[in-house]
Amino acid sequence: MSLIVQKYGGTSVGTTERIKNVAEKVIRDREAGHDVVVVVSAMSGETNRLLELAREVSDAPAPREQDVLVSTGEQVTIALLSMALIQRGFDARSYTGSQVRLITDSAHGKARIQRIDEERIHNDLEQGRVVVVAGFQGVDEEGNITTLGRGGSDTSAVALAAALGADECQIYTDVDGVYTTDPRVVPDARRLKSITFEEMLEMASQGSKVLQIRSVEFAGKYNVPLRVLSSFEESGEGTLITFEETEMEEARIAGIAFNEDEAQLTINGVPDQPGVAYRILGPISEANIEIDMIVQNVGDEYTDFTFTVHRNDYQKAMDILNEVASDVGAREVKGNTKIVKISLVGVGMRSHAGIASTMFEALAKEGINILMISTSEIKISVVVHEKYKELGVRALHEAFELEKDASVE
Ligand code: ADP
Ligand code: ASP
Ligand code: MG
Repeated sequence: MSLIVQKYGGTSVGTTERIKNVAEKVIRDREAGHDVVVVVSAMSGETNRLLELAREVSDAPAPREQDVLVSTGEQVTIALLSMALIQRGFDARSYTGSQVRLITDSAHGKARIQRIDEERIHNDLEQGRVVVVAGFQGVDEEGNITTLGRGGSDTSAVALAAALGADECQIYTDVDGVYTTDPRVVPDARRLKSITFEEMLEMASQGSKVLQIRSVEFAGKYNVPLRVLSSFEESGEGTLITFEETEMEEARIAGIAFNEDEAQLTINGVPDQPGVAYRILGPISEANIEIDMIVQNVGDEYTDFTFTVHRNDYQKAMDILNEVASDVGAREVKGNTKIVKISLVGVGMRSHAGIASTMFEALAKEGINILMISTSEIKISVVVHEKYKELGVRALHEAFELEKDASVE
């Protein structure tokens, strides 16, 4: 007998019909002899609806109260799923994050999990119960309700799996696994049977929202076997996140991620002196704004800097930059929110040359102008105008023949 933690996302519990289907699925696993802990999200659209309500009463909703509000979405689904299980003759108990004692820090809206009191869950499991836990939420040491950031139920599930020593953490969603890229953008995208932990982490960091990045980090830290599966299909092996490097000789690229949440800022005609980068970027990070890509031109007397930040931080960064510009005697400040970052990800890149040139050639053929480039050992990212998102992703998917299965089987 094994212990499985299953997480069902918003679409999977989007209607009471679907919640009943989830109950049936859980029951099948119970009947196969497994202990099951279920983590659920709010019904699809509910978290957005609640956030919208908050904005109707305040232009800057108090973070503590916003967490009290948005955490209600998941409280609805845990109760409904437990009722559906009990209706079918199965013993089930629902718990909110605070009841299960999922302790986090106090960073409302982006809290980090510190520990989980797993004894209560173990007791319930020993009594033969299905335990249903609200995703996305926890409680801080002072008893304040916290939430873990958008998509945070994935992280709740992985953290519970780690704390309980589960045999597998299964993320049930509306696609049947992790694909070479978002199948909604490239219909030809191919499901991966497995992906290395490193690649999954990079895909998530570069914008693939199929798994919240923190859930992948957690799985890596605690070696939690993690699988992404469809909640709508009966069978299927989904995608396993693996910790060993397999024979990836042929598969140079695992996938393509894209991120539409960034904005670009440029400061032109900056006197090129030692310390100038610090004078420009220092105030940005002091304001707690995370900088992603940075490019500095090779200048003679003057140089230019371009960098990207999250779109939510764009206005704040722009205000700071305008102030800095007059301090350092820069010529002008420009901004661009209409960008998308497209990234190729693959551990096989390490041992293959020529990936960058194939990438640039494919984009050039489509007449797509590259605004910024950045590389690491396992990824190459380009920033382009947002109107090229679909064309760019498709062109790259085709150029690297990602629709074909390159694994040696
Ligand atoms: P849930 O509500 O179940 O958490 P999400 O919407 O958060 O579901 O994540 C699933 C979605 O992620 C899919 O519907 C798909 O559009 C998107 N997605 C983005 N990149 C990928 C990818 N590489 N593979 C699979 N799905 C992806
Ligand atoms: N309901 C939350 C959200 O929409 C958490 C989740 O679904 O994972 O972000
Ligand atoms: Mg999600």
